[in-house]
Amino acid sequence: MKLVLRPALLLVAAVLFLGARQEASVVDKIIDEGRNRSEVMAHLDHLTNGIGPRLTSSDRLTRAGAWARHQFESWGLKSRLEQWGTYPVGFNRGPWSGSMVSPDEPELKNLTFVTMSWTPGTNGPVEGAAVMGPATEEELTAVEPNLKGAWVLSPGVSTGRELNEKILAAYDKAGIAGLIRKGGATLLLTGGNGRIAWDKLPKRVNITMLSKQYDRIKDLIGEKKEVRLRFDIKNEFVKGPIPLYNVIAEIPGTEKPEEMVIVGGHLDSWDGATGTTDNGTGSATTLEAARLLMKAGAKPKRTIRFMLWSGEEQGLLGSLAYIRKHPEENDRISAVLVHDGGTNYVSGILATSPMVPIFEKVFEPCMKLNADLPFKITERAGLPLGIGSDHDGYLRAGVPGFFWSQAGKANYQHTHHTQFDTFDAAIPEYQQHTSMVVAIGALGIANLDALLPREGLVVARPGGGGARRGSPRMLGVNTEEDGVTISEIVEGTAAQRGGLKEGDKILKVGGKDVTDNESLRAAIRDADHKSVVRVKRKDKEMDVNVTFDRTMGFESEDDGLTVTNVSENSPAAKAGLKAGDKILKFDGKDVKDSEALRAAMRDGPKKATMRVLRAGKESDLEVEFER
Ligand SMILES: [Zn+2]
Repeated sequence: MKLVLRPALLLVAAVLFLGARQEASVVDKIIDEGRNRSEVMAHLDHLTNGIGPRLTSSDRLTRAGAWARHQFESWGLKSRLEQWGTYPVGFNRGPWSGSMVSPDEPELKNLTFVTMSWTPGTNGPVEGAAVMGPATEEELTAVEPNLKGAWVLSPGVSTGRELNEKILAAYDKAGIAGLIRKGGATLLLTGGNGRIAWDKLPKRVNITMLSKQYDRIKDLIGEKKEVRLRFDIKNEFVKGPIPLYNVIAEIPGTEKPEEMVIVGGHLDSWDGATGTTDNGTGSATTLEAARLLMKAGAKPKRTIRFMLWSGEEQGLLGSLAYIRKHPEENDRISAVLVHDGGTNYVSGILATSPMVPIFEKVFEPCMKLNADLPFKITERAGLPLGIGSDHDGYLRAGVPGFFWSQAGKANYQHTHHTQFDTFDAAIPEYQQHTSMVVAIGALGIANLDALLPREGLVVARPGGGGARRGSPRMLGVNTEEDGVTISEIVEGTAAQRGGLKEGDKILKVGGKDVTDNESLRAAIRDADHKSVVRVKRKDKEMDVNVTFDRTMGFESEDDGLTVTNVSENSPAAKAGLKAGDKILKFDGKDVKDSEALRAAMRDGPKKATMRVLRAGKESDLEVEFER
């Protein structure tokens, strides 16, 4: 018996050893290629500067999908475009510019503004007088003769639905050149509603301008100056249906090809800039991880699949449609690793307790990659739902879906959906590092003895990724298909604190009408710190007061108070907060943990004093939030 058994055992041990050695040498090759011959910035350059923004339904997104597929194939992967749906109308954005023609003021020669996606442009220069829009019946009567061909400044006050409709009708009847709304002080966000019909295309040109420029024009009109503006905005509608695709590429598994690890990010973007940190950076690392694995000759036990989804910005459409179409795959997917948090380096991963020892092995090479860019496994009672990226649908289907933790000096909020989301925002060192981590992580998980454990997988948790993605405008609800009826309230969020309930249909946020998920997101984004949410609850309309969380813009040690990283341009940076500082008090209140700090920031004033311990000395900093 023993004599028979022993050689067999030896053989098994030898094979295991060989397997481990093979993986180690592949990892070495990944690191060598990733460090010395990385192409990740070339991928990103081509995506953002070569192709440009990749709005869902745009020609550029189609081009990006075809290009990405070609890239995968050129490295020897099998790849395909899988259609997940269509959009009724396509939208291509061309260049846009505007200036104040008279009076002559250098600062208003170049106006900074955006128009939403799927809204019309001027398609050629249109010059007209600037007039102040009416806020009352009397003002409407007074301004009506001057509306024809005018650029109308929207006064931005609530006039009530009835008068508002009357005013808009007067604009359309007169044929105004367009409407100008007041935007943020520095950030202009792009969004838009793509659910439009070809025979009912929006007609009104809607411009959102930096607040300073808007205010100056408004003042000039107030001083009875003759103000003339000129805009040239090339926005093109394309008759649909426009087919939409996910890009899928695979390195087939050698032992269990039907089982897989998915690596990905969304390829689409908003089109107010070039979609660099959202999500050119995640698309580029997905491509580069594939290239590194192929270059290193990886032969994973399980299939490693690379997915570049689209329609993410309109509600995770591409990934959700894929999951709906292929539910049979879910039991065979070990992990879905999504990179969609901007250019900061991948600094870790969340894990349930059974996953922790597994990940400690898988990510061991990542922890040694670069002492300045550490990698940390953080144990959680469950993975957080509702971060708002393509792994969410998988998590809901019971598949371990991960949104990489990220850290570094970039301020995601500064670029996320704003005019600043351009190639120069990307940090090459981080991009290069992340590509290696993604490749190594995918390979390690694909080579495990078993699929990742799924017990205790999901928990809805306060802040969760909402905070991670740096959005202070998280309401904390998940919605049904209509985009406005609440299907889930996330604990510890504005929605829960305010008393919103499952089943509530959201009608207005901060006075703005909400009709779909798009307008809901926009209204949340623009809402005041303390806002009223109007809902329909059991056929009754009612108002709920909510207070949003504020984000200062720093990363901390586990105590939540000792600063490790300050994001550029953030309130924390402007206040002079530095790595190593420990926050002691905020707005006069002692803060013992991150929860207490979060509450103090939320309930405190827009401008507050914060006491920090720096090099053994206490000092006070002045923090000012945007809202
Ligand atoms: Zn994104």
